[in-house]
Amino acid sequence: MSTLRFKAVKEAYNRKAVIVDEPLERPSEYYSRNVFNREKMFKYLPKKTYDALVNAIDNGTPLSRDLADSVAAGMKKWALEMGATHYTHWFHPLTDGTAEKHDTFIEHDGKGGIVETFSGKLLIQQEPDASSFPNGGIRNTFEARGYSAWDISSPAFIVDKTLCIPTIFISYTGESLDYKTPLLKALNSVGKAAAAVCRYFDPDVKKVFAYLGWEQEYFLVDESLYAARPDLLLTGRTLMGHDSAKNQQLEDHYFGAIPSRVEAFMRDLEIECHKLGIPAKTRHNEVAPNQFELAPIFEEANLANDHNLLLMSVMKEVARRHNFRVLLHEKPFKGVNGSGKHNNWSLGTDTGVLLFAPGKTPEENLQFITFVVNVMAAVHKHNGLLKASISSATNAHRLGANEAPPAIISIFMGKQISEILSKLAESFSEDALNMAGKLGLKLDVAQIPEILIDNTDRNRTSPFAFTGNRFEFRAVGSSANCASAMIALNAAVASQLQDFKKEVDDRIKSGHKQVDAILMVLKDLINGSKNICFDGNGYSEEWKEEAAKRGLDCETSVPLIFDRYLSDDSVKMFADVNVFTRLELEARNEVKWEIYTKKIQIEARVLGDLAINHIVPVATRYQSLLLDNVFKIKSLFPAEKSEIIANQDMEVIEKIAKHLIAIKEKVQKMVDARKVANKIESEREKAIAYHDTVAPLMDEIRYHIDKLELMVDNEMWPLPKYRELLFIR
Ligand code: ADP
Ligand code: MG
Repeated sequence: MSTLRFKAVKEAYNRKAVIVDEPLERPSEYYSRNVFNREKMFKYLPKKTYDALVNAIDNGTPLSRDLADSVAAGMKKWALEMGATHYTHWFHPLTDGTAEKHDTFIEHDGKGGIVETFSGKLLIQQEPDASSFPNGGIRNTFEARGYSAWDISSPAFIVDKTLCIPTIFISYTGESLDYKTPLLKALNSVGKAAAAVCRYFDPDVKKVFAYLGWEQEYFLVDESLYAARPDLLLTGRTLMGHDSAKNQQLEDHYFGAIPSRVEAFMRDLEIECHKLGIPAKTRHNEVAPNQFELAPIFEEANLANDHNLLLMSVMKEVARRHNFRVLLHEKPFKGVNGSGKHNNWSLGTDTGVLLFAPGKTPEENLQFITFVVNVMAAVHKHNGLLKASISSATNAHRLGANEAPPAIISIFMGKQISEILSKLAESFSEDALNMAGKLGLKLDVAQIPEILIDNTDRNRTSPFAFTGNRFEFRAVGSSANCASAMIALNAAVASQLQDFKKEVDDRIKSGHKQVDAILMVLKDLINGSKNICFDGNGYSEEWKEEAAKRGLDCETSVPLIFDRYLSDDSVKMFADVNVFTRLELEARNEVKWEIYTKKIQIEARVLGDLAINHIVPVATRYQSLLLDNVFKIKSLFPAEKSEIIANQDMEVIEKIAKHLIAIKEKVQKMVDARKVANKIESEREKAIAYHDTVAPLMDEIRYHIDKLELMVDNEMWPLPKYRELLFIR
């Protein structure tokens, strides 16, 4: 066997679980140990500072420079006690992942020595030289620099020996260069718009929060096998590899017993999560072999997203301790399920009401229906944009590719809610509403509590599903920053709620009773947006046709899907809710197209290299062994006999030759296609060229390599095979 592969398989196979020392305390005792949460603030800050900081966090009051100094002093004291030596502004640039630049706490003391210092100025604002972060041309190196600013709503935390301060990252002219800034803006807008609508029902509501509960799916691969796969190492997915004879067809992995090595990893990961205040709660096997999931208790959306980003980096570290590599790519393996990150999303009031949960009184249920219908209208109007928000070069392998979810956004409401909505939309004309209908209608709405949402009424093929007290945006990719989806969704719903409020108010002004006004507007909204609702099989061909007829966005090319950010509707919507300006949207799209191109470009290079330098030489060597054999047979046996004996070898030799020729030709074609694409100036056109001309060749090349894998001597095959990558643990 190819020595590297052989060694890797053996190492992986013999590996034992790494049992880490577990804390003697319970999770409740070490939970948030590494977080500067309110408990630590209270302990380390003067009372006056603590009160002002909490007020700033809860009510957005500005924090004075003096107070910031005082907070910084307390934070430093805590961090030094915890053994921290460095601090960093932790931010979320437009790549997937986080960025940090570490500084030590030291300063000259003026007497030839040093002291540990940390000022309010350093806490609040920094100017990272981040000119090489993608910025879509907003901030060229010769322009004003960008700066990072403390997000006081997300607590600082310590990783290893570094104090991490969550920050936003913006240009000096105020444009956002990150994910956090627009997320905070979108959450703020949706909170305000929702609270205003809530006050129709309960005047005491002051605030509404958006909640997010993500479910992170991932694969684990043994590190030796990983190291022997340059494609996994460089692109996060396998660019070649024939199906394993067994993969997920027996469905024996899902919810099965967790393998001991993986269990040890999960325990370790959970402990780390809990120390960092990430409320990790659920862990289980997923559908594909070596695929797993971790889900926390849901939290306020900005904090939840910080926690997801933190989790993704902590996971990578912890996996290494257990001789694993974690794969967050949406589709590391062809032919088995990919990984997503369901975003469970809801809105809730400061009075403790979840707005997507059916209530007990008619008023509560009218409120419930109001919010559900407004989400429906927002998703309908912006379905193309929502798809754009979850689209990427990597997620494209999962969407539409005959696997959850399709590249069309629709909503699954479930039978009961659908029935209520159609009744509301059909049975009541405006006249009926104004007269006799009221009582009947109120009764209908009042019935909702009795239909306690049935958990089995679930549709796994829907990209956006109502699940009892929340919506589950399932199309989000496993490697994505949830903020992208959460910005689009919360902004779209905020804008819809603003419009709704305006229309209802107009009707009230023209003399309608509030409840009638609400019902009339809801009726129009249901009728105008019911095309987004689909409870059938989202994977079916018929749905694609049907969705097109309904006018839903069916585009599948990722570079073209990104155009949705710049449609008139999107630009207006984002401006209305103060989340993005057109300039920001344009700049961010440049970044999206550029990242798309680079991802495909890297994959194409890696595939070309593997094909020519790993696969072709090995297949040629095997072919030459066969040729040698044929030659010997022919020289030893008489012609009639040697014909028969060598015949089959000759066939294999020819097949191998055919595949080798195809691979070499197509690799050359792919290189040429890249050369043409690379000359294109416009990022958009370049991405389209990569999508249309480079990516398809990768599939073709892979096809021939995977055929060769079935023919070439197993001992010679250089790369760990799917059966090894997926089943050794
Ligand atoms: P499933 O896999 O069946 O969808 P899980 O239990 O794995 O369910 O995940 C459900 C996720 O939804 C959890 O992260 C949970 O905290 C989150 N969640 C539950 N209720 C809400 C809610 N009201 N708002 C947001 N997230 C929620
Ligand atoms: Mg789920």
